[in-house]
Order: sequence, then structure tokens, then C-alpha cells
Amino acid sequence: MATKRKPAPEDVSNGAEDINTAADAEQSLNESIYRDLHTAIMEHRLLAGTKLVEERLCEVTGASRARIRQVFARLAHEKLVTLIPNRGAFISSPTIEEARQVFQARRMVERELAALLAAEATPAQIRAMRNHIGQEDAARARGDRAAVIRLSGAFHIFLAELAGNAILEKLVREMVSLTCLIITLYDRPGAPACPEHEHRDLVDAIERRDTARAEALMVDHLRHIEGSLDLSVRETGAPDFHSIFHRE
Ligand SMILES: [Zn+2]
Repeated sequence: MATKRKPAPEDVSNGAEDINTAADAEQSLNESIYRDLHTAIMEHRLLAGTKLVEERLCEVTGASRARIRQVFARLAHEKLVTLIPNRGAFISSPTIEEARQVFQARRMVERELAALLAAEATPAQIRAMRNHIGQEDAARARGDRAAVIRLSGAFHIFLAELAGNAILEKLVREMVSLTCLIITLYDRPGAPACPEHEHRDLVDAIERRDTARAEALMVDHLRHIEGSLDLSVRETGAPDFHSIFHRE
């Protein structure tokens, strides 16, 4: 990649730039593998419990094992991947209790986020929110379920971005990603990712500067998503074979 040309005296920074370029290229390969895996999780193309086979990912991406492990470590830090010693990396399977905790935390954080936007969002930001909802509608209209799921989650991340608080954005991004995994595990068949119209109602309230309404709509919206899941299954104990085989 580096040219062998002898640097001219005014060209002394050239070597350092080559090093930077190489580091940037590595960084961007890590980033693109991370993003591809992340998107696959967000679109439910990689399901909870799936084993991520290192060799296979090396083959497909052309990256080294060390690099693949760095990406796994990052996803593990975000709780999207679980690393099990001697067994490898798996897409995480949040428990019912963890699922409830994620929704509880989301209600607390995103309620405040909705209030903040109702107080401070600019007309341009509100247009951008509506534009995002337009993309969700388009995906729904063409029957692209993977895109609907991804865009529904991305709407919440986008709101956090607009609030201009990097900590908040990171937090929401992680909670939304976990929610995607939770939905793949506990979804009732046919239940939508985010109930239709609720994003639009929320933006309407934000545009009216109706803080209380925006907060209430966000909390209700998150309750509706949680309510569309089947989190009632008992986790402990052996399977009830009597009920399975209809024997008393
Ligand atoms: Zn939503």
C-alpha cells in the first residue's frame, strides 16, 4: 500500500500518515464487521443462541481471528454476545427477568428523552423524525419485515442522537439492541416491532411542545412493546411432561 518513493524534505509526515492509514483501515474493518453483525441482530437474521463460529467469520470477512475476537469482545461488552470459555461466542439469550429489566430501564430513560425533545427539538429535527417514520412506513408498505424491525429500533436511537447527549445515546443504543434480541426470543407470532402510528403520535406531541403527553406516549409505547411479548413463561423447574402428554 505504501509507495517506496523517497520522501522529500517537506514530506516528512508521509511515513506517519501511512501508519495512520493502516491503523484506520484496520479500525474500519473492525467497524464494518461489528456493524454487519449488529445489523443482522437488529434485523433478526441472527437469532439468540446462535453460535458465532470464529473460523467461519474469518473465512467470510477475510479478517484474522484476533480481529474477530475484538469484535466479539465489543459485542459482549454490549451484552449482545455471550462468551463462554472453551465453547466460544454465542448471540446472547436474555432471560425473562433481564427482559423485564431492559423495559423498566427503557421506560425510565426514554420518558425523560421524550420530555427533553418536547422541550427542545428544533423544527429541522422534527422534520428528520418524520422523515424516519416515512422510511418505516415505506418498509412496512413493501412488506420488508427485517427493515421494519430494524427501523423501529433505529427510531428510538435516532431520538437519543437528536437529544445531543452521547451517554444517553450509547445507553439507548444498547437497550434497543437488547430489545431486538428479546423480541426474537419472546415475540408472539405476528406481533409488530413497534405498534404502527405510535411513533407518529409521539412526534406530534413533541411538535406541540406537550411534554407531559410526550412522556406518557413514550411510556405507553414501551409498555405496548413489552405487552406484545410472552414474558409469562416460568423459567425454573423441569418441563411439565404431564401437561405435554395430557396425563394426570
Ligand atoms: Zn418504537
